Amino acid sequence: MLCADVGGTAVKAALISVGRVRLPQSYKIKIFRSVPTRSADGFEGVRDSIVKALNAVRSEDLADVVAIATAGEVMWNDGSVLHATRSLPGFEGYAFAKDMSERLGKRVVVINDACAAAVCEHYFTRRRVASTLVLTIGTGLGSALVTDGPIDGDHVKDLELGHMLYRENGIECGCGKRGCLEQYLSATAIKRDAGTNTVKAALTNTDNVKCVEAKRNFLAALRDVVKLAKEKYSPKEILIGGGLAEMKELWLDDFYGMSGYDDVKTARLGNKAGLLGTAYAALNGRFSDQ
Ligand SMILES: [Zn+2]
Repeated sequence: MLCADVGGTAVKAALISVGRVRLPQSYKIKIFRSVPTRSADGFEGVRDSIVKALNAVRSEDLADVVAIATAGEVMWNDGSVLHATRSLPGFEGYAFAKDMSERLGKRVVVINDACAAAVCEHYFTRRRVASTLVLTIGTGLGSALVTDGPIDGDHVKDLELGHMLYRENGIECGCGKRGCLEQYLSATAIKRDAGTNTVKAALTNTDNVKCVEAKRNFLAALRDVVKLAKEKYSPKEILIGGGLAEMKELWLDDFYGMSGYDDVKTARLGNKAGLLGTAYAALNGRFSDQ
């Protein structure tokens, strides 16, 4: 089946073969492509990127459903976008699933990308626990909680922690508010505070005061959200996904040292979790309208 993962920087697409729909280990990525999101080209640019990415992996797809994970807050039942930041311009209010369904001539399921990653991490594991909370730290900050039960809007929740108020009158966010956590806990925030082009440069430069401070702020924001997540949701596990998880050797031990939260782990399935999770949700989930 065709799947896409729409982020602020890249649109990833994959052709996934599925042996038996409820057997996670039968899901295999056959073809994978990544294209730039082209946020600067506005709504049409992003939509073109999604179609282009899907077409690049489309060969011999026989499934009648296309699964898309996307940044932004998504209505579970109809796959429309409730809120989106500037990284997906014009997506707020966009009937994403309906429009893509008309373009592609197939049923399209659209869910939030952190929800997709959390579904993947929760179900594609041998040692499943009762609840899995995933924080995806990349261009922005995603957060989702999956609990055992049917794959529906009650058991797969987009927590939207990225846009909770973290600093009164703080930095302006792409959502229009000020002081959102995402402005303090994301790759974007690290690069901004450090004044570097890459997160790696920021996290490895121990001689530069701004870099050291950027790293300290990142770790403190992560500690704060982990504390809040534990108190509010009591998840059985907390996993970190997204781009920052792929460079855990640059910060995770420091995080354990300063926070004591050594039960926090990085996501097991890496940057393909969104694609696999949205495929699994589309085939096994309950959606009233999609
Ligand atoms: Zn915000």
